[in-house]
Amino acid sequence: MTVHTVTMKGRSEPIPVGKIICMGRNYVAHIEELNNEPPGAPMFFIKPATAMAPLEEPIRIPSYSKKARHELELALIMGKPLFQASEEEVYPAIAGYAVAVDVTLQDVQDRLKEKGHPWEIAKGFNGACPISEFVPASAVSDPQDLMITMRVNGEQRHNDSTKLMIYKIPQIVAAASQYFTLEIGDIVLTGTPAGVGPLEPGDKLEMEIAQVGAYNSSVAE
Ligand code: ZN
Repeated sequence: MTVHTVTMKGRSEPIPVGKIICMGRNYVAHIEELNNEPPGAPMFFIKPATAMAPLEEPIRIPSYSKKARHELELALIMGKPLFQASEEEVYPAIAGYAVAVDVTLQDVQDRLKEKGHPWEIAKGFNGACPISEFVPASAVSDPQDLMITMRVNGEQRHNDSTKLMIYKIPQIVAAASQYFTLEIGDIVLTGTPAGVGPLEPGDKLEMEIAQVGAYNSSVAE
């Protein structure tokens, strides 16, 4: 079996990743830009570890989509397992943070949603989770006070603080742990702020989460 891994600054051993739990609809302005309803409770979906790709590598949009979209999100990685955890148990269990893109095939997702079908192939395909190196949690002073910014071909897309999350990190992780055991090396994506937009072949991407990292990438031609 192939093991998919991420790296952490200052650690020589790569970290094996089990699953990637993603939070949907966690910023009010983003819910509004997609004309969605606010969730009554945290809303989760999962990407397989095979969806990961290095953030610096060009993003590959599968040929079955003509309308891909970027969502730039703060990612965290578990350093301790949690199951049915309380909110107080969450921060001590987080090992680090990274910059991740939740690449979404909007046309494919819309089509499947309309039919009431599962939409994994719109968000879980190979390359659907470009992710940076992690920084240790100790390097981030307050993960709930970080600017998330993204520019595409010099044009501003995301530019908001993690302060604006509806469900904060302890709530997200505690809620996810009610359903899924979070194992060491599992990753959680905390939702996208407003400013999502299309990804077109040849686009140049500049992405930054304060204290976590600044990265450049592109969309493959
Ligand atoms: Zn997302």
